[in-house]
Amino acid sequence: MSLTKTIKVGNVLLGGEWPVSIQTMWKDPLPVFSGTDDPCLSPIIERISGLKKLGCHIIRFAVPDIEAAESLGILAGRSPMPVVGDIHFDWRIALRCMDFPIAKIRINPGNIGAEWKVREVVAKAIDKGIPIRIGINGGSLPKDLARERDIVSAALKAAEREIEVLESMRFSDIVVSLKMNEPDEVVRANEEFASRYPYPLHLGVTEAGPLVAGIVRNTAALVPLLKQGIGATIRVSLSDSMEQEVMAGKEILACAGKNAHGVRIVSCPRCGRAAFDTHAFTSRWLNRLYSIDADISVAVMGCVVNGPGEARQADLGITGAGNSVLIFKRGEIIRRIDARDADAAFQEELDRLIEEKAN
Ligand code: SF4
Repeated sequence: MSLTKTIKVGNVLLGGEWPVSIQTMWKDPLPVFSGTDDPCLSPIIERISGLKKLGCHIIRFAVPDIEAAESLGILAGRSPMPVVGDIHFDWRIALRCMDFPIAKIRINPGNIGAEWKVREVVAKAIDKGIPIRIGINGGSLPKDLARERDIVSAALKAAEREIEVLESMRFSDIVVSLKMNEPDEVVRANEEFASRYPYPLHLGVTEAGPLVAGIVRNTAALVPLLKQGIGATIRVSLSDSMEQEVMAGKEILACAGKNAHGVRIVSCPRCGRAAFDTHAFTSRWLNRLYSIDADISVAVMGCVVNGPGEARQADLGITGAGNSVLIFKRGEIIRRIDARDADAAFQEELDRLIEEKAN
């Protein structure tokens, strides 16, 4: 697959030879902020910082009205990662967003309205140097195309139409997404688009479902595309938290052989032999482990019968052994501790390992 154009979204570069970035979408309405020192901003900025630590690169917000555009504008000035405004229906909201340090806007050709409205948005984007994502969604195609039997061809026509408008104004800071609910359709649409256009693709499955179904559907669509070199950025949409979306995104990239950086977690499914609650330990440690910026593998195993042996490849592991807990390093047992001290001991060994890796 030939390289796409590179598009700058704040300090993140999409396309070309740049790594595939991960994004998520804020799940609640934004409060109305009085200014950049509004106390309501701090917890939001903290959560965004946590997402960044987890491995998220870009965050998108729904902007349903002018008030929301103003709130997003204030937030964008303090956000630790690029902020994208997601606009449907009213082009004036896109215009207002661009009065602030927004890194990109997303418009939906299915509902943004007449061509002159799009032209006004593009003119301001040119003026402000802001890229536009043309976000095609199988559930909100332009009315005349929504009746077509082949949703993939309809989505591609919608993209083509919008690209023509943008290109006619010599605007090429374009990112495109073609999201549908069926993984196979997402694959077909994006393959076809990538063979025709030089613009970077934002990949995702729309309305993918709850955690398990959503991850499976996104994996089925995104891994084959990413393996072909298609896709500059991904959003794993889930009926679950933003943190889960980011962690799922990291795993999908790793499965596709992209940006496999960070902690690889191996954990046993637990069975009747378990002397250690791998489920509780894993969920307690998940966020912390995914936030580590080092290439290490961690094993969480239920029993000593198979624990160290099964996880011999892991840099650091923990497993139950009767009434105690063992910590092992590359398959060798290095500590035997009381279960109450497991978290503290694991933290100590993890810190030591990260330090060793860094030196
Ligand atoms: S490591 Fe032990 S507890 Fe976990 S699945 Fe294997 S045998 Fe069962």
